[in-house]
Amino acid sequence: MKKVKLVDNPSPNFDERGRDVDMIILHYTGMISAKEALGRLCDPVAKVSCHYLVDEDGTIFALVPEGKRAYHAGVGAWKGESDLNARSIGVEIANPGHEWGYRKFPARQIEMTIALVRDIRSRRAVPLNRILGHSDVAPQRKEDPGELFPWGKFAAEGQAIGRYNGDEDPSVSYEVALSMLRAIGYDAPDKAHAAALVAFQRRFCPKALAQGFSPLTKAALKWAAQAMA
Ligand SMILES: [Zn+2]
Repeated sequence: MKKVKLVDNPSPNFDERGRDVDMIILHYTGMISAKEALGRLCDPVAKVSCHYLVDEDGTIFALVPEGKRAYHAGVGAWKGESDLNARSIGVEIANPGHEWGYRKFPARQIEMTIALVRDIRSRRAVPLNRILGHSDVAPQRKEDPGELFPWGKFAAEGQAIGRYNGDEDPSVSYEVALSMLRAIGYDAPDKAHAAALVAFQRRFCPKALAQGFSPLTKAALKWAAQAMA
């Protein structure tokens, strides 16, 4: 089991939580380099931050104490709850992202991110179904950590719900599929659920990305509604 070693890189961007932590939100930085991302996440003018940043070589920077509310989730919702910053720990994972050259996450970086999540969960009551990607809680605005993020490796280590690996299921009706999307936790308003569906596909079945309520997506929804319950 990897030991978590932290490099202090304090950010001034935080305030009081006023409640307990029960969620971890994983991000990619979406910037050219980790150094540039650290600069922005510690800039008092930018007013953004996170608790930890994991560089591509596996170095973990500590920016905001876990007991404080960092500014990483922005406007978002999960299971009808907003102010997700108050209840979550935010982990930024260095990757240029879709805008600057999205690429595979190096094995060492993922290994250390899993070790970090395990370490956080040894101290805080965060259930597996509340380890989420940023795009899960802000599907209209965000794509991170994206379809290349290896959720399966987290699942193999018991640190997240993984992806769907089964067959298609055309038998699920549109109405039931949409209700499952909502039951999992996504904010999927009537007539504006497309973004939430894409976020679901990035997270649980990237093979069906942007294919609407396809038979594979329906099967994955059915599976995830149980796995995330
Ligand atoms: Zn993000």
